[in-house]
Amino acid sequence: MIYIMQSQILTVFLYLNVVQALNITSRSQWGARTPTHKTALANGLPYVIIHHTTGSYCDTQADCIKQMKSIQNYHMDSLGWDDIGYNFLIGGDDHVYEGRGWNNMGAHAAKWNEKSIGISFIGNYNNDKPTSAQISATKDLIAQAVFRGQIDPNYILYGHRQVSSTECPGHNLYAEIMKWPNWKA
Ligand SMILES: [Zn+2]
Repeated sequence: MIYIMQSQILTVFLYLNVVQALNITSRSQWGARTPTHKTALANGLPYVIIHHTTGSYCDTQADCIKQMKSIQNYHMDSLGWDDIGYNFLIGGDDHVYEGRGWNNMGAHAAKWNEKSIGISFIGNYNNDKPTSAQISATKDLIAQAVFRGQIDPNYILYGHRQVSSTECPGHNLYAEIMKWPNWKA
């Protein structure tokens, strides 16, 4: 009984640590447009898929907000999607940006959207290199996804290139995520 209580306290403590460590820039903070439609995304998903945007890199919050708006405009106006495609994005300013967010299905990997969350690094990681702060922000975001129940604790991590014919998420970022514990060949 005491053991159970201690483990519950530890879980709450770890959750608070993750929540506090993670500073997600919300849609209202970056000035997102309203989606034209939303599709619910279930909990307990088996996959996390990592992308890059292939556009410009940003290393200040002002520049990353510009990129967020430009990516959302491209996805909605040129591609005709309901919203920015990814669930979350990672800026070179080391901040996590809310895309479609939790429990809204993304448009990031055909046939995989309903069973994964999609996280995209802003920039082209064939040339750009992920910083250690971007890497730890992404790991914190994934930990939060597990704590929330959005993804299964035994989730599998893939780069987009493993599920579609694409170079995404770029050579440098792909080489990095291959070292993460839940990545599978
Ligand atoms: Zn991709």
